[in-house]
Amino acid sequence: MINIPKGTKDVLPSESYKWQFVEGVARDVAAAFGVKEIRTPTFEHTELFQRGVGNTTDIVTKEMYTFTDKGNRSITLKPEGTAGTVRSFIENGLFSGVLPLKMFYITPAFRYERPQAGRLREFHQFGVEIFGAKGAETDAEAIIIASTLLKKLGVSVQLKINSIGCPECRKRYNEALKGFFAPHLESLCYDCKTRFEKNPLRLLDCKEEACKKINADAPSILDYLCEDCDKHFALVKDYLEIAGVEYEIDERIVRGLDYYTRTVFEFVASGIGAQGTVCAGGRYDGLIEELGGKSAPAVGFAAGIERLLIVMEQSGVEIPAPKAPTVYFAGMDTESRKQCFRLCSALRAAGISAEIDQMERSVKAQFKYADKLGVRYVAVIGESELAEGSMNVKNMATGESEKVDFANAVEYFSQK
Ligand code: ATP
Ligand code: MG
Repeated sequence: MINIPKGTKDVLPSESYKWQFVEGVARDVAAAFGVKEIRTPTFEHTELFQRGVGNTTDIVTKEMYTFTDKGNRSITLKPEGTAGTVRSFIENGLFSGVLPLKMFYITPAFRYERPQAGRLREFHQFGVEIFGAKGAETDAEAIIIASTLLKKLGVSVQLKINSIGCPECRKRYNEALKGFFAPHLESLCYDCKTRFEKNPLRLLDCKEEACKKINADAPSILDYLCEDCDKHFALVKDYLEIAGVEYEIDERIVRGLDYYTRTVFEFVASGIGAQGTVCAGGRYDGLIEELGGKSAPAVGFAAGIERLLIVMEQSGVEIPAPKAPTVYFAGMDTESRKQCFRLCSALRAAGISAEIDQMERSVKAQFKYADKLGVRYVAVIGESELAEGSMNVKNMATGESEKVDFANAVEYFSQK
């Protein structure tokens, strides 16, 4: 037997409706905010992610699915959705269209990680990116889109926000961080020793307990913001308050990706431990230019669909199950089974869900099967029904029966 690769999951027919529900709500929320779908390839040139996600990030240093294709190109399965969206924005000249451009995607993403609950090697994201607007109302709008989605899905989460400033603020802050961490260098984990050299901000993102303990006393980025960044952050908070979105300021949030500027945020659910971050995002004004485009501000977020489903399940959210077929036609012999087939086809053509036997079941077994399906009506057709040109339709909920002419079947069930 060939097994599924480690860190991947099947979505079975019995549970796919849950995915459709989450994706449907996400699409509805996107539509309400004027956000249109973008679809980009599952794989891109490796360089896109090296530059777009950042060479010092965990994703690029450890987690990418990279391979050489038959044409000797280095290809990588997308580990996230932003870089491809930016590439497409630049390549298709969307800068010259109407701005801001609001886009969403629902995409698989691939990261070579140690699989555990809520951490897979192939997972799925709903993401939103808004390009071209630099004002704080856009940061707030991105956060509000995410918050609206989470509310509609019935998950209770905590919104944590922070500002990591602009490259100017960060230069001063990185110096301060180096000063703070230098005496602790020996106690830091292996990765953090590299981070100390290459990108001190990343030190705050470490998940090792020992590093987290030291991090607790690190200086706050908020004390190093320049005047403009400070004003911008204050405005974001104002807009969130106007929208009635509750937040908490968490100076430790820096996000794992290099391209963020100013606002960063996370929605965290309690209960699934280290994998509690269901949605994360922020502003990344430097990325579009970094990837070769004209400089343009941008803000976005991505929510992990698997994690959303876990949190929904834990919070006891009832996802509406798919509707059972309206009617089941039970036939007896070849001729009556043909009539069942005929009526079933006519109903389906009219958009009414109907079922017949395909397993050569006895009438008794067909009733059992119809019950399992949860159909609302069962019609039994035998020799006498064929002769009369009508059938008895049983309402499974009330047990009552009604005589319906074959000729009126579509009309009858279309009113049910
Ligand atoms: P984490 O800190 O949990 O590793 P991250 O910072 O790497 O998350 P992002 O790159 O911000 O995550 O991705 C956005 C969202 O995608 C996360 O908040 C999470 O919901 C989801 N996600 C990220 N990695 C995985 C994964 N390996 N499996 C399942 N979902 C994931
Ligand atoms: Mg990660």
